[in-house]
Amino acid sequence: ADLDPADGARAYELDREHVFHSWSVQSALKPLVIAGGKGTTVWDYDGTEYLDFSSQLVNVNIGHGHPALVEAIQRQAGQLATVAPAHANLARGEAAKRILEKAGPSFRRVFFTNGGADAIENAIRMARLSTGRDKVLSTYRSYHGNTGAAIVSTGDWRRIPNEYARGHVHFFGPFLYRSEFWAETPEQESERALQHLERVIQAEGPASIAAILLETVPGTAGILVPPPGYLAGVRAIADRYGIKLILDEVMAGFGRTGEWFAFHAFDVVPDLITFAKGSNSGYVPVGGVVMSEEISDAFEDRMFPGGLTYSGHPLGAASIVASIDAMEREGIVANAKRIGEDVLGPGLAGLAEKHEVIGEVRGLGVFWALDLVADRATREPVGAGEIATLKSELTARGLLPFTADNRLHVVPPCVVTDDEAARGLQLIDEALSVLGG
Ligand code: PLP
Repeated sequence: ADLDPADGARAYELDREHVFHSWSVQSALKPLVIAGGKGTTVWDYDGTEYLDFSSQLVNVNIGHGHPALVEAIQRQAGQLATVAPAHANLARGEAAKRILEKAGPSFRRVFFTNGGADAIENAIRMARLSTGRDKVLSTYRSYHGNTGAAIVSTGDWRRIPNEYARGHVHFFGPFLYRSEFWAETPEQESERALQHLERVIQAEGPASIAAILLETVPGTAGILVPPPGYLAGVRAIADRYGIKLILDEVMAGFGRTGEWFAFHAFDVVPDLITFAKGSNSGYVPVGGVVMSEEISDAFEDRMFPGGLTYSGHPLGAASIVASIDAMEREGIVANAKRIGEDVLGPGLAGLAEKHEVIGEVRGLGVFWALDLVADRATREPVGAGEIATLKSELTARGLLPFTADNRLHVVPPCVVTDDEAARGLQLIDEALSVLGG
């Protein structure tokens, strides 16, 4: 398409004049203007290209501008752009059927939402109503979204100015590199984190707890792949006390870890799954809750007190159908797995041998974090200054990074090619050298 640098200047100007941004001090913002994208690449109005190693907010799993999604959205818009949730709609039904096929045989229905946070709200509501209990347990190292119960379930700093919902209790999940449990092996970390969870449940009163809510692989908190046995152990504890298990797959689902759902790689089946981001790569806003047979059955003869004008929106549903079909046809989930095993995993481990500043490399699929440290022995995190430098060095070299706290998250789209992954690794290598680590 024709790009006019004047449009870029106008986009920036309008943004700074009129747009209020998420999680920001407004006066400090200098947003990069993005004009377009294709696959793993985005560009601005000057035609400068960037390798998108952020997948925006870790959601553009199928890459930018996928023709099958664009065509499906256009076709659905031409036929019926919107419909009330009470009516039946073909795209919505097809989307639900495909998601259930991917989730597995113990799941029965899908409740669609507008995004991830309201998926969490509704999963919590379903757990509360189906158990008649109230409390929700979640981890300190988590992000679950920016609405009532979702932000109070969140463990990180964003919870604290927003603690208006009630009935939430936090605990520590496993994270060997920065262990809360003095563990030295993954087995110790898993066993002790499970013991801690069970003690929290006993102390809170098991009969008051509706749900344990976990990101299958905590994402924004640092891509914390659970140690062997942890998720199966949580399932066993939940069953012992009649507690529902909600796995939040908003970031980890739909190819990110090299699986359709991240939990498929672990020995666990949840009662409820939340999804959003990768389900249609954010081409239109969408999310939802996948419900077990048992939880779905709880509402066969009883009203579900919840709903949204755009639940199962036709453009969202059509884009989910097109996305799942294209991911299947083009082997995109398998590509994410292979890139993780063959390119990003070994490549990032190679960078850790070269750069002292890398304390730990962890991840799988196209879901990796570099935990950056000022000192390898003490594991003291690098400061905000180093992360800002790294970010600007990467952007200047043509790579859009995702950073959080002291970490660089390496999270390209699932369609990333071997060459693009190698190029991204090279740019990260160069930027880390500037950092002096
Ligand atoms: N859950 C997880 C694991 C997430 O990563 C996010 C967003 O980053 C959310 C929930 C919230 O999703 P949304 O921003 O679409 O409301």
